[in-house]
Amino acid sequence: MVSKKPRVVIIGAGMAGLTAANKLYTAVGASLELVVVEGGSRIGGRISTAEFSGDRIEQGATWIHGIDGSPLYKIAGDTNLLISDQPWECMDGTLEDPLTVAEGGHLLTPSSVDPISRLFKNLMDFIQCKLETAEQCLVSGDDLSVGSFLRRGLAAYLELEKEKNATSVGSWSKRSLQQAVFAMHESIQRTYTSAHDLSSLDYNAEKDYVLFPGDEITVAGGYSGIINHLASALPAGVIQLDRKVEKIEWALSGCEGRPVVLHFSDETTMSADHVIVTVSLGVLKAGTSEGSNMFQPPLPSCKAGAISRLGYGVVNKVFLQLNPNYRGDDGFPFLQMVFHPSDSELRNPKIPQWIRRTSFLCPIYNNSRVVLSWFTGQEALELEKLTDDEIIGGFSRTISNLLPSKHHNEISQKFNKVLRTQWGSSPLFLGSYSYVAAGSSIDDMDTLAEPLPKYGGVDLAPLPPLQILFAGEATHKTHYSTTHGAYFSGLREANRLLKHYN
Ligand SMILES: Cc1cc2nc3c(=O)[nH]c(=O)nc-3n(C[C@H](O)[C@H](O)[C@H](O)COP(=O)(O)OP(=O)(O)OC[C@H]3O[C@@H](n4cnc5c(N)ncnc54)[C@H](O)[C@@H]3O)c2cc1C
Repeated sequence: MVSKKPRVVIIGAGMAGLTAANKLYTAVGASLELVVVEGGSRIGGRISTAEFSGDRIEQGATWIHGIDGSPLYKIAGDTNLLISDQPWECMDGTLEDPLTVAEGGHLLTPSSVDPISRLFKNLMDFIQCKLETAEQCLVSGDDLSVGSFLRRGLAAYLELEKEKNATSVGSWSKRSLQQAVFAMHESIQRTYTSAHDLSSLDYNAEKDYVLFPGDEITVAGGYSGIINHLASALPAGVIQLDRKVEKIEWALSGCEGRPVVLHFSDETTMSADHVIVTVSLGVLKAGTSEGSNMFQPPLPSCKAGAISRLGYGVVNKVFLQLNPNYRGDDGFPFLQMVFHPSDSELRNPKIPQWIRRTSFLCPIYNNSRVVLSWFTGQEALELEKLTDDEIIGGFSRTISNLLPSKHHNEISQKFNKVLRTQWGSSPLFLGSYSYVAAGSSIDDMDTLAEPLPKYGGVDLAPLPPLQILFAGEATHKTHYSTTHGAYFSGLREANRLLKHYN
């Protein structure tokens, strides 16, 4: 009998899937049969470099979070992706010296913003165990959520401040302003984590999250360049686009001798010895929710439980091109926006509700005519449904309210083109990145990463082991939500198979 080569099918051509494919192919070449099936019509997944108004922009992953020790920084350097002739998003790094403006057009001085910014930073540093001594903190947190801990910290601070002289600014009392500046920082934190509400973010997990040290940078030649580099090692035909998997049947006996069969949306099938599933946590949640049967037989309850407990949120980016007739002092500023809360009677009805939990709007680099804002949670989803005109109108009215007219010429339509991402409603992503939700823990990420069956040993015999392996950012318990987390998870599962075949 001629022995067949093991067939490995990787579901998803994002960072995790292509890293796994690259590792497997470069390690053993054609001694494994390797296929990457991708449901979309492009590779990269949540990495998607595009062009807007002549500038290179990122619709998904944007930053290399810390360059020291980052494998992606190394790839970008080795492949000349750290230089470019074309302007690119955040090529000056993070813009400095924001203009912080409160609703009604009140320019806030550093003396009213900085103490709250420091308070917020100290509270986050405490949660993330970055402070040297716990005494430096106002309150201690045990089994709290991040949101409730932050709110306790703010309440304690306001209590201490209440005896001090209070000066109001326009319709703002000092206290309401302090609360709103704090809320602006909460909104920024929501974007880092993708959680709609920080009260759904687990307190204890924060200290385990790891970022590489060193600068945070964007990729001059485009993040997709790293993806293209990983894919370039694979022979033609390995990556199959527009192959959406609907169902994964496993633990089979008989079918060509291979224990897994994939069913595609075009009703074709493919058998495999090993399948590496790299779809997002959002796709896994949808595929394992009641009434869905992405896995047949269904996943064991411990894994299904981990999938349902872990958090996965929506973050979207909005790029706006400034109207050629718009002129401002030194271009458009790095604008930090401070709004009255949604239930306040003082809020201006011209500012749309969906903007109120967004914290900044800034040029993508100094003097660029393209400005960018990030949206998170419910508002990010709402944004996906708006028309371009509604977005342009909403931002234009907000800028008219916020920016004192001495900073720019007053034209009603400040933008003439918009590009917004739609990660939440895209069926291949159903959101942006994962977080450890209150009620889950990083152990759930380990559970999610466990292969099925792990061993072909006594209990599970005669099932062949490692039929379904799991990679993707949500399976990495210290680097989840990032591109390098996805990269490490792809390597981990490729190495697992390489070790299995010795
Ligand atoms: C707006 C935004 C900003 C971000 N910013 C950063 C950042 O600054 N820095 C950072 O490190 N990370 C950032 N991230 C996160 C980062 O992009 C992801 O963590 C990483 O790219 C995930 O890679 P992955 O391989 O795990 O998943 P994915 O990229 O989602 O890859 C999975 C692939 O599976 C495919 N797929 C899904 N379902 C099926 C199916 N049924 N059949 C076949 N194929 C399927 C998808 O099309 C996709 O290509 C950001 C993400 C977003 C959305």
